[in-house]
Amino acid sequence: MSHPRPITADESASILSMVDAGMTLRQIAATVRRGYGTVSGHLRELREQAADEADPCRLKPPAAARDRQCLGCGKTFASQGPHNRQCVKCRGRDVSPYAIG
Ligand SMILES: [Zn+2]
Repeated sequence: MSHPRPITADESASILSMVDAGMTLRQIAATVRRGYGTVSGHLRELREQAADEADPCRLKPPAAARDRQCLGCGKTFASQGPHNRQCVKCRGRDVSPYAIG
């Protein structure tokens, strides 16, 4: 038995209720007949999941890369950062006033 089987939803619920009841991890682990590390690892996972749900920004790309409005055509495009204000199409276009066109 090298890999402990994953904690089921039922076990997870009873572990959480025991945490709420103020039981120590060792008592909980003994009650659900799991290793101390399995129970503490599971709780850590649950906390990380809860943190992700509470703070959805964690999952978003960095603020620098986001949809912006193109200064050229006004369309929304996937900007790579504050320096990037024109869509690929407009950046490719020659906007020089001296261009022969
Ligand atoms: Zn554009």
